[in-house]
Amino acid sequence: MNRNIAIDGPSGAGKSTLAKKIAKKFGYIYLDTGAMYRAFGLFAIENGVDFTLPVEDNKKVLEALTDNFTLDVIYEDGNQQVYANGKNVTGLIRTPEVSIAASKVAVIPKVRLKLVEIQRNIASKNNVVMDGRDIGSYVLPDAAVKVFLTASVEVRAQRRYEELREKGNAQVTYNEVLSDMKFRDANDSSREFAPLKQAADAVLLDTSDMTEDESETALMEIVKSRIEE
Ligand code: C5P
Repeated sequence: MNRNIAIDGPSGAGKSTLAKKIAKKFGYIYLDTGAMYRAFGLFAIENGVDFTLPVEDNKKVLEALTDNFTLDVIYEDGNQQVYANGKNVTGLIRTPEVSIAASKVAVIPKVRLKLVEIQRNIASKNNVVMDGRDIGSYVLPDAAVKVFLTASVEVRAQRRYEELREKGNAQVTYNEVLSDMKFRDANDSSREFAPLKQAADAVLLDTSDMTEDESETALMEIVKSRIEE
């Protein structure tokens, strides 16, 4: 029986932190689908795509690049590693530049279809907790549990800002993070193909006023009530 868990929501809602905890608790694989869009975004940057141009101007080049792109998701010590054309890019895809590139390549249906095929293939072979934007609404419409995790854009930007500072990024400012986040929210929600949206049968969890522990408890309860029913 299908036991997959879909966790969707905007950037910085805490999806990956919480999804990892759920995966550990239930013995599932955790698949961070954003890392896959990021890996393709990085590949496009390395191939000279100019992301200051309108998306339409890059569409043909990005479509052509998908044919030269292979992506493997491998688990090393239980941690997801993303290999793009044989190279481990896991440590290279968390920069603000790659975030924007990922959001821009994610608009192109051909890019999405290629990555969705890999995501569905992984879900067909394993019990997965998958996080992203379109998992409950498009990638895994039959998932056993669907959660739409969100928080206000200011709260999400503050959390992401603190995380970047903790990781040693001393240059970044709160306002930069906020404006990147607003851009990605708008871009992810407005695209035509598989936009960011809450699936009709997803449970909404707004963590704006919750601590990380409270969010974890709330999410755990939603998942348990559906997985164990
Ligand atoms: O989740 P993360 O912030 O790493 O995702 C990077 C970008 O990849 C998002 O802004 C979004 O545009 C895109 N994405 C997507 N669909 C997914 C996961 C990520 O469009 N399932």
